[in-house]
Amino acid sequence: MLAKKIIFFDGDGTLWYPKKTKYQKKPHWIYALGGTLDFYCGLLVMTPTALDTLKKLKERGIITIILSTHPQPPKEAGIIINHKVSYFKLNDFFDEIHATRERQESKSEFIVRILKKHNIPKNKALMIGDSYRWDYKPARNVGVDALLIASDYQKNDGSLDNCMGKV
Ligand SMILES: [Mg+2]
Repeated sequence: MLAKKIIFFDGDGTLWYPKKTKYQKKPHWIYALGGTLDFYCGLLVMTPTALDTLKKLKERGIITIILSTHPQPPKEAGIIINHKVSYFKLNDFFDEIHATRERQESKSEFIVRILKKHNIPKNKALMIGDSYRWDYKPARNVGVDALLIASDYQKNDGSLDNCMGKV
């Protein structure tokens, strides 16, 4: 694999996941409980290798970006994703943090725009996420490599196209 210069990360199910269900259930079930931002954050924990990985990437000078799908209007969605990043004290590990729209092309559009801005070719980029439909496919659709995190919720759903959480 060519050395990557930039890595895009999904949020829920990738950098962090629900403490209670980890990779067993699509992470967005927690948002159906109704509650404050701090309440949701309290239900989440960092995935075990996330912090070490981010530290190593920063040491190597790799650009790291969060692209996390949120259904809320852009301003509110931005507040929510930034709150989660601050909660996990991850601000220093990311060059950019974006809440993407609830459309499958949204992450593709962000990826293309950000690569253009940094003048980085597509083969030097990687997207990491837990959702085939909301992470893997949007990257592959614009010719960017993607790494799909294995999970029970994906496996148990049978069809990859029907198994994805939205966040
Ligand atoms: Mg996810």
